[in-house]
Amino acid sequence: MKLGSHVSLGGNDKFLGSIQEALSYNANCLMVYTGAPQNTSRLPLSKLKIPEAWALMAINRIEKTDVFVHAPYIVNLANPDIEKQQFAIQFLTEELIRTTGLGANVMILHPGNHLNRGCEYGIELIAQGINQLHRNTQGDSTIIAIESMSGKGTEVGKTFEELQAIIDLIEDKNRIGVCLDSCHLHDAGYDVQTGFSQVIDEFDRVIGIDKLQVFHLNDSKNIRGVAKDRHANIGFGQIGFPAICEILNHPRISHVAKILETPYVSNPANPKLSYPPYKYEIAMLKAGVFQPDLMDVIVLAEG
Ligand code: FE
Ligand code: FE
Ligand code: ZN
Repeated sequence: MKLGSHVSLGGNDKFLGSIQEALSYNANCLMVYTGAPQNTSRLPLSKLKIPEAWALMAINRIEKTDVFVHAPYIVNLANPDIEKQQFAIQFLTEELIRTTGLGANVMILHPGNHLNRGCEYGIELIAQGINQLHRNTQGDSTIIAIESMSGKGTEVGKTFEELQAIIDLIEDKNRIGVCLDSCHLHDAGYDVQTGFSQVIDEFDRVIGIDKLQVFHLNDSKNIRGVAKDRHANIGFGQIGFPAICEILNHPRISHVAKILETPYVSNPANPKLSYPPYKYEIAMLKAGVFQPDLMDVIVLAEG
């Protein structure tokens, strides 16, 4: 079973610190943003302690294919403003090069927002953008995994059909894949709570299971279909612990890495302090037993 979480790359030890953080959660896979997801300032690869990170990965049997990069969500390939589109392509080209530099093979990308120009228009621009990214990094094998979205605002990619419409327009099919997110699927209206097998069958029929590169495992604060995208801690949302365990252990996607992106938990006694829930959630998911007390996260963290 591959189970991990998103981890920081911003500490003193950079990518080495990301691996240390993942190991501290007993994770065997991980996802990083190469910088703050809300901005586009990035450090050069030479400053990220990459060889040291690889050495630590080797000792702990974490493969390079267990590392995923998430592109920042503020760049929008579907932006109708040509200058902003060009900036997105330029930035994401560098991000793909960084992904390869970290040794990772998959860059996760939110497809984009059509900004009221219509979904078809967005799909066209996103596919053109991805084709350009592939051309700019020719010879590279790094895969762009477009993430399924909740459908908030004018997001493109809230259905398997929309994702497949993008894939249809991609020239190099070997370098395009998909990232599913249980919270996004639920918020977009897919019944992952009581019908996950059917959802996966539908994914296979519309897109193809071989395109699935990575899975974001999150609970959702919302009822199904509200197109909101608010992640909840595992077992504390509307999807619930039994359904999330079923997703984690589903035989058709057992080979796919599951990444937690659940919210930090703040200490009610001192709300300025908040802690990652991942060690607690990973232990709970591995045991298959729900421990419905988020104070455990704080006890684990504060010792
Ligand atoms: Fe995402
Ligand atoms: Fe996600
Ligand atoms: Zn989300």
